[in-house]
Amino acid sequence: MDSMYYGDTLIVDLDSGTTEEVDFVEADEAGPGLAAGLALYEKYKDADPIIFGSGLFTGTPVPAACLGFVLGRSPVTDELAVAPLNLFAGSEMKLSGFSMVVVKGTSAKPAYLWLHDGVADVHDASAFAGMDTWETTDAIRREMGESMIQVISIGPAGEAGSKLAAFSINYWGSGDTAAIGALMGSRNLKAVALRGLGMLDADDPEEFYTRSLELFAFARKDRGFAALCAALGAGDLDKWLEPIAHRARACFACPSACFPFVKYNEAPTVMESSDVEEPGMLVTSPSAALWLMDGGWEPEAASRALEAMAREGLDMVRGARELAGKPLTDLGQITRAVKALEGFAEAAWPSGEPAPAGLFGAWTPPLADADAWKLANMAGYVLGVCPTYLMLSEFDLEALAGLCRPATGVRLEIGGLADMFG
Ligand code: SF4
Repeated sequence: MDSMYYGDTLIVDLDSGTTEEVDFVEADEAGPGLAAGLALYEKYKDADPIIFGSGLFTGTPVPAACLGFVLGRSPVTDELAVAPLNLFAGSEMKLSGFSMVVVKGTSAKPAYLWLHDGVADVHDASAFAGMDTWETTDAIRREMGESMIQVISIGPAGEAGSKLAAFSINYWGSGDTAAIGALMGSRNLKAVALRGLGMLDADDPEEFYTRSLELFAFARKDRGFAALCAALGAGDLDKWLEPIAHRARACFACPSACFPFVKYNEAPTVMESSDVEEPGMLVTSPSAALWLMDGGWEPEAASRALEAMAREGLDMVRGARELAGKPLTDLGQITRAVKALEGFAEAAWPSGEPAPAGLFGAWTPPLADADAWKLANMAGYVLGVCPTYLMLSEFDLEALAGLCRPATGVRLEIGGLADMFG
């Protein structure tokens, strides 16, 4: 399955700080995307690796083909768990020239992995130790002299091994509900930085790109934040945020922007760039916002709490669940309350309930019944297409799978997905 993927698998050994490339045969044998990631985990399981991967269509014009993943053993559940690489991180990873990256070992000092244009290096990140994710993102972009670099980083929570730690994608947190951020911290892996301008090859390029663009043309574009709130049974969440909402943003290739950007350090109506360096926050977790809304928070204070959690590198869903019912307004109090969340080192969930187990965890509450949500996740992580978009848009999975033949020369049946997950 050479098409849609860049050649080899990258093996990163943090013990020695070295990288090597090995043949990538797992997609042929196990299936693409997360199916290959699971096979790679099995192959290197003695090292208990962290695997950064991308789906078959990630980085192409297929609707919502933004999705990559991080796969590892969750420090919360002690089971294999996957966390999404959305926004522009999954697509940037694929276009950096590395479709699958297996990270083994533990660095003697903080390190970051720099993947760009087919080149992979392990860099010293000692100077970034203790930085929050916003500072780390800025520092790496400054060091490399490139503002478009996508940075997957951990903050103080991940470095401290907090069970509430989550990695962040640039400034905006992530759907890591399995403490993969703490797993990165345990390996002294402060960040993975990505930049690439690669092109992807298809087995039948004309048919693949023509059919992809047709799918895009007919894809539902009205499934943004309001539709997501309605599907989650939180119809008034968008109204609650409306006074500070500035605009909506989408992930790579998504026809339906479901992330509202809220402004609280300047008027939300200001459209042009201003002197305000950090005007607000991208709300990437509707579940977290919902916990805070239902817990009596005002939208501005809640958004500041989300920012504080993203900066610290905390799971916003579990953090908001803990903060709900204790609404705060003072920024100093919010910052201290968020910092205190790192202390939940032993609890599975702050509430004391069992953490959600299973490979797909609890990125968002299921948008449909559990079986349909699981199928959307399997299809999404194999094909590299956002499962939230698949559910919200009622996307035709068979039409999506039909692109596999022009993409790779190999047919893929939706009915065969479950077999890839054993
Ligand atoms: S539906 Fe939302 S989360 Fe999914 S790709 Fe689109 S913008 Fe991103």
